[in-house]
Amino acid sequence: MQELQDEFGLTYLLISHNLAVVRHVATRVGVLYLGRLVEEAPARELFADPKHPYTRMLLDAVPDIEMAGKERLAIAGEIPNPVNPPPGCHFHPRCPFVMPHCRTVVPPPFEVGQASVRCHLFAPDRQPAAD
Ligand code: SF4
Repeated sequence: MQELQDEFGLTYLLISHNLAVVRHVATRVGVLYLGRLVEEAPARELFADPKHPYTRMLLDAVPDIEMAGKERLAIAGEIPNPVNPPPGCHFHPRCPFVMPHCRTVVPPPFEVGQASVRCHLFAPDRQPAAD
């Protein structure tokens, strides 16, 4: 694939659940959850610094010997019915960072570095959490 890409300047759209393959071949990555693009970023940035909670949980679920003993975010709960997805942020029933407005307001895409992230945690006017 990469030889063809180099030779002919091709663009591929690859849809996969295999993050190792995605990491190997992609230059930009989009993460979908219940049909909504929740994060989109250059592959290098997304794998080094995932921002959306769902992306973080997906990457934490990949077996990695270097992560042994480090804290991981587990994906809790069941996938909701995609025919009748939860209102607001579709991920809110499973998100450990859920806030009241996540249950009613669809997060718009926020620009964070070179990434675009649909999560209220990245709203520019969001106040930092009190300690
Ligand atoms: S918008 Fe809220 S519920 Fe959705 S991923 Fe962000 S913090 Fe979690």
